[in-house]
Amino acid sequence: MNKRFGKNDFLLFAGFLMLAVVILVVYLFHQAPTASYAVITVDGRVYGTYELSDSQTIEIKEDGVVTNVVRIADGTVFMERADCPDQLCVKQGKKNHDQENIVCLPNKVVVTVYAEDEAAYDSIAN
Ligand SMILES: [Zn+2]
Repeated sequence: MNKRFGKNDFLLFAGFLMLAVVILVVYLFHQAPTASYAVITVDGRVYGTYELSDSQTIEIKEDGVVTNVVRIADGTVFMERADCPDQLCVKQGKKNHDQENIVCLPNKVVVTVYAEDEAAYDSIAN
């Protein structure tokens, strides 16, 4: 066993530390930008696109019956109500970061939020 804590060990440690910092920075950086609009799809078809700046309630109807109620408030979107048995979509809470989504599997409803202009964010990054 080599008990010495030599220069190489220090470099290795420093290297790990640097790596950790880099990962942290990348992670923080990849905190997706704040979303500005939501796209709702039902069974793969676009149901509608909604600005997150517009507080509103969107009723998703299937054959005239409201299956899901999506609420936009304070720049976030959440599933206010759903007639699905699992209620997982309601439990997913509020979303407001680029490409986050709320999925209601039983009703095939997907709400995805997007930042307005990803390219603009990329250019800030570089
Ligand atoms: Zn659901």
